[in-house]
Amino acid sequence: MMKKKILLTFDYELFLGAKSGSVDNCLIVPTDMLLDVMERHQTKAIFFVDTTYIMRMCEWANSNSNVKCDLEKIRQQLIRIVKSGHKVYHHIHAHWVDAQYNESENQWSLSNDNHYNVESLSEEQKTKIFDFSVSFLSEILREAGIEYNCCGYRAGGLHIEPFMSVKSEFDRCKICEDYSCEVPIEDMIESYRYDDSTKTPVAEGRYAEYPISRIKIYGLRKIMNGIFFRLTKNCQYYHKIGDGLPSAPKKTKNQVSQGKLEFSLPISIELLTPVLLPYYKKLLKQYSYIHFLSHPKLQSPSTISLFDKFIKYYLK
Ligand SMILES: [Zn+2]
Repeated sequence: MMKKKILLTFDYELFLGAKSGSVDNCLIVPTDMLLDVMERHQTKAIFFVDTTYIMRMCEWANSNSNVKCDLEKIRQQLIRIVKSGHKVYHHIHAHWVDAQYNESENQWSLSNDNHYNVESLSEEQKTKIFDFSVSFLSEILREAGIEYNCCGYRAGGLHIEPFMSVKSEFDRCKICEDYSCEVPIEDMIESYRYDDSTKTPVAEGRYAEYPISRIKIYGLRKIMNGIFFRLTKNCQYYHKIGDGLPSAPKKTKNQVSQGKLEFSLPISIELLTPVLLPYYKKLLKQYSYIHFLSHPKLQSPSTISLFDKFIKYYLK
């Protein structure tokens, strides 16, 4: 029997709304829990690191001890991630350039989203952000004593198009793999090649696209899941660990018409409930390849324990 394949990916980031949440609750605690599960099962993942956030932290780290301490925790965790055999790749949320740091709360406000997309940045800003990302992640690899090509990218909000707005940065920074597109699970392929747009596959294209799987949850399954959420809403075990406020999702011109993707969601660990676990197992039987997109900040003790069960089942 052919071995089914899953690709686990995580966006390593805070919340991107009016309150970023704390580093401990959005990153350190849930990521350590996820790493423990993956270590137990010898499973590897890719972490897309929101390096524009880290660039903003560096502006404060010398003058503010809270930021300095948070930055060090993040660096140590990323080193652990890389040493454990996972990969760290680039994740750019451009609107960190306008984020306001609130010293008394040790949190950020990202209410200003004028620069939500990389497309909206000046060439200088783009260069600065990508250069920082490359130098920060190479430093992590160097400190971990691990070598690989840090050639993967995921666009903030998955807004990779228009690809031409980042193409020159890809070339300059030797990025050649993108993980921002989404495909209904029934149409999944592991990857395809492209040149000027992720929407136009080109057989011998210079870049590779690794699309994320989207699923639809409807009918009885959706109703049962809703009941489950109502029954557990006062129980800490089922609450997400991250403590920030999300941003309202922003649609670009390219995303207005989603067609087949409408009412679907990326397949994520944070969606796992006892109702959906059997469904995830069924998907594993049905499809030969699944690309997960998850976030440490959105995990609860419950989703992490269900993830453990799912991985156990997958490896069986
Ligand atoms: Zn993100």
